[in-house]
Amino acid sequence: MSSSSIRVRFAPSPTGMFHVGGARSALFNWAFAEQSGGAFVLRIEDTDAARNRPEWTEGIISALAWIGIHSDAPGFEGPYFQSSYDAQHRAAAARLQAEGRAYHCTCTRDDVKARTGSEHMGYDGHCRDLGLTEGAVRFRTPDEGVTVVEDVVRGTVEFPNDAMEDFVIVRGDGSPLFILANVADDLEMRITHVVRAEEHLSNTPKQQLLWLALGAQPPVWAHVPVIVNEQRKKLSKRRDKVALESYRDEGYLAEAMVNYLMLLGWAPAGGQEIMPWAEMVPQFRLEDVNSSPAFFDEKKLRAFNGEYIRALPLDDFIARCAPWVEQIPGYDPKVFAGVAELAQTRITVLSEITANVDFLFLNEPAEDEASWTKAMKDPAAQILADAEQAYRDAPWEAGELKTRLEAVGAAYGLKLGKAQAPVRVAVTGRTIGLPLFESLEALGRERTLARIAAARARLA
Ligand code: GLU
Repeated sequence: MSSSSIRVRFAPSPTGMFHVGGARSALFNWAFAEQSGGAFVLRIEDTDAARNRPEWTEGIISALAWIGIHSDAPGFEGPYFQSSYDAQHRAAAARLQAEGRAYHCTCTRDDVKARTGSEHMGYDGHCRDLGLTEGAVRFRTPDEGVTVVEDVVRGTVEFPNDAMEDFVIVRGDGSPLFILANVADDLEMRITHVVRAEEHLSNTPKQQLLWLALGAQPPVWAHVPVIVNEQRKKLSKRRDKVALESYRDEGYLAEAMVNYLMLLGWAPAGGQEIMPWAEMVPQFRLEDVNSSPAFFDEKKLRAFNGEYIRALPLDDFIARCAPWVEQIPGYDPKVFAGVAELAQTRITVLSEITANVDFLFLNEPAEDEASWTKAMKDPAAQILADAEQAYRDAPWEAGELKTRLEAVGAAYGLKLGKAQAPVRVAVTGRTIGLPLFESLEALGRERTLARIAAARARLA
């Protein structure tokens, strides 16, 4: 039970993958509800049967849970499904009609065009006073004056009423439109604050008129800014990586994602950006949300993620890597535990763990051709032969392995870095990766020597 009368909602339509912009709206609502001890209602707006799919509803619910918004969390209510409130939507339309605020209309688009001489004039009010009993239902908008929307983010926005046609609230087949269903549900669910994407600002004067016509006080409106890509274009699923799931699957931490998304249009005071949820919540103010477009900077998100990864306690880091490392054939948790700390400082998304440690488990690590060509230049063959020799009886410990390879390189006038390269490629398949000697220690003598021997054979 919530301890205040504040009630917000997140009302996604399950028509595609769950968008990071949706996640940001959900988080703003969630932060506001949590801070005020209010309720957060999840309402799935599933009335567009042709475009909805159950898996998208499931995707929304699981993605929200991933960022901490789930049915066990205090304040959470739902999910409710808009399609189950069809009767209430129709009742709201009937009430508006009974009170003369809405009327039936049988005009087709062509009828309107024929009368007004234009496609763009909008509906001319032809059926307003005809007393028809069938057809679509239109809301009677005021002819004059302005509808003033007070938006917490955008300030006072005025919409001249003469530019607002008598809009349709129920289709000719009796099915209610979004504009009505959305208001009827918000009213029924006693929503006090509507925090949603800017694209809905243009619906807001109509919705405000509906609230008033239904005898209720409109909610507080807050339209949060669009999210744009590097080219300052609105983030789109055709152009950009927008699905929250794809970030999860790539190994972004939910905490980093939440932190980053909260900064799309809002910033804590004092310029500190990396901040855990619990510290952001008490600071969050709808009034402080910025109205200008927010840039989704994937590089910055990666940097955040790297910081969050490095801040994890080691055993947590190991646990979070499990979904990736457990896929590697031959995976051995003990061996992984030996190098995990080294890997933790080097990766920025969890999926990168695989390429960093797979050489420890695979029988034959994938050989990167470019690395091979670069590292196996003269005197690589001699280095490998000498290293094999030096490592045969070495105490198997990183410091000792380093000292021995240093000596091998010195005999050819090579610094350690140069002497390391062929050994690294022979053993790991790549020129970059975890610190070499710790890697060798973790891999063990037998496999290290076998790989050096195999590389020598290939060079011979
Ligand atoms: N179902 C609408 C959408 O997904 C949201 C409407 C709203 O938040 O009012 O765009």
